[in-house]
Amino acid sequence: MKFASEFRDPAAARALLSAIARKADEIGATRANPVHIMEICGGHTHSIFRYGLDKLIHEGVEFIHGPGCPVCVLPMARVDECVEIAETPGVIFTTFGDAMRVPGHRKSLLQAKSGGADIRMVYSPLDALELARRNPGREVVFFGLGFETTTPSTALSIQAAAREGLNNFSVFCNHITVPEPIRALLGDPDMMLDGFIGPGHVSMVIGIHPYDFIARDFGKPIVVAGFEPTDLLQSVLMVLTQVAEGRAAVENQYARVVPEHGNPVSLAAIADVYEARPSFEWRGLGEIDASGLRIRPRYAAFDAEEKFGIGYATGRRNVPEVEGCACGAVMIGKLKPTQCPQFGNGCTPEMPLGALMVSSEGACAAYWQYAGAREAMA
Ligand code: SF4
Repeated sequence: MKFASEFRDPAAARALLSAIARKADEIGATRANPVHIMEICGGHTHSIFRYGLDKLIHEGVEFIHGPGCPVCVLPMARVDECVEIAETPGVIFTTFGDAMRVPGHRKSLLQAKSGGADIRMVYSPLDALELARRNPGREVVFFGLGFETTTPSTALSIQAAAREGLNNFSVFCNHITVPEPIRALLGDPDMMLDGFIGPGHVSMVIGIHPYDFIARDFGKPIVVAGFEPTDLLQSVLMVLTQVAEGRAAVENQYARVVPEHGNPVSLAAIADVYEARPSFEWRGLGEIDASGLRIRPRYAAFDAEEKFGIGYATGRRNVPEVEGCACGAVMIGKLKPTQCPQFGNGCTPEMPLGALMVSSEGACAAYWQYAGAREAMA
């Protein structure tokens, strides 16, 4: 497959693994004293496990799984608010499939659907827009969720609704941004991180410079990376090279896709439709300043929080997490999924306690799907 097989080439992967081993030895990295590299994005976590890179790589390199899974970091209160909107008579609630099974305090969207709420899975906010056009007598709400990768398409759907005067369409906005939680992590004295692998899809939109502060203010290397195995291995080598040379810079391994300054059309749509919230709650991490986006007042008619009088529009309800669940610590790499006492006991993909077990980008799902299967086959 063009543009995939080249990046899964075993000979290229072996050569990169050897180069990583030489560089790790040069730095003096060992199993007891490893270089800690955080892959921010849950998509990278899944690639690492799908291709067994954690087992193949030099023992002096440890992957720390970061908070880059938008479904995982959604707090319970927001899931409850989704259910509240979805159960409102006359509403068609639309969502990406990933969010259906995320547990709320009372129930998940899937449980609300089985109870009769009209909840439909869509592949794009434009599908939700089309539903609104076809159902003028119903309120169609799109669950806007995700990092900068999905933010532009939601913005474009709001702009289209405004152009068409579609007054039965709104967005429950839960879009969040990557740089601010990374700043919060770097301010945590308990986090021992030597470098980062940055999410390539996010940088397709924002470019690489929003990460300048990581190198400039915290002296850590970051390499924006693609998602194939040799992309990830090359990125690790680039981080190790910076460490060996005593440098800290923002580098772009994924230059075949990521423009240095991002996508101007997407950035313009984001700037037109959204503004930063003063703070946003992250599941397990608490409130992080300026880490979430809200819909600007000029598009208030398409803001579900305003329309339904819930969420940040009315003051927040904090809902405590499930007792004994270590989602917060796993999300920032302080614990591995298998160190959560609930992993495989109280929490499985069939009966999840946390979103990390059901999201396609969740670290617990990656361990369950790939590491578990690998150990079973050993
Ligand atoms: S195993 Fe379940 S409860 Fe534990 S961290 Fe993962 S998702 Fe959360």
